[in-house]
Amino acid sequence: MEDKRYETLKQIRDDVLGGKNLPLYSYRVVNKYYPVIGQGDHYAKLIFIAEAPGEEEAKTGKPFVGASGKILDKLLSMVGIKREEIYITNIVKDRPPNNRTPSGEEILAYSPFLTKQLETIKPKIIVTLGRVAMEWMINEYKLKNFGKISQVHGRIFKLKIDNQLIKYIPMFHPVMALYDQNKLVDMEKDMKKLIKIEK
Ligand code: URA
Repeated sequence: MEDKRYETLKQIRDDVLGGKNLPLYSYRVVNKYYPVIGQGDHYAKLIFIAEAPGEEEAKTGKPFVGASGKILDKLLSMVGIKREEIYITNIVKDRPPNNRTPSGEEILAYSPFLTKQLETIKPKIIVTLGRVAMEWMINEYKLKNFGKISQVHGRIFKLKIDNQLIKYIPMFHPVMALYDQNKLVDMEKDMKKLIKIEK
């Protein structure tokens, strides 16, 4: 049966595009950036959530098209997952200046869009990329905090969103692999877990 997800996701896009009160709206306009709403299958079983777009992403309006995106693509192709079959988004839809970590106020202002995206797409598996997105999940869904990302990455958690059982796996942000080869090895291992639970 046809559902309303196309309209709802379009509404989210329009609300972000016209969100003049959003904390990074004027920075977006001054720099002629685009917001990065999200990309992929509106019916995706698997969704990746990161913190905020970088410069390449803000110039194109697409998530993970810069250096981190190349690493993410490598990891996805290693496990045979195509971008078209997943959905990729961020908590904060606009690029923070100098790629700084988004502030608490920014996270708060943009997070209703992500909550709505999750309620609409209804993924079966959520992967967060990096500490900020992991902390967002903990706060948003009142999850137990099991410790630092270095301790919990690759663990599989279960939670309910809107009465639907979801598997949730925190992973490192791909940018970490740019500086630390060991993180890339960790990410490869975590990705492999993902395909096991996808089946
Ligand atoms: N880093 C992020 O956190 N998100 C993107 O979309 C790209 C890089």
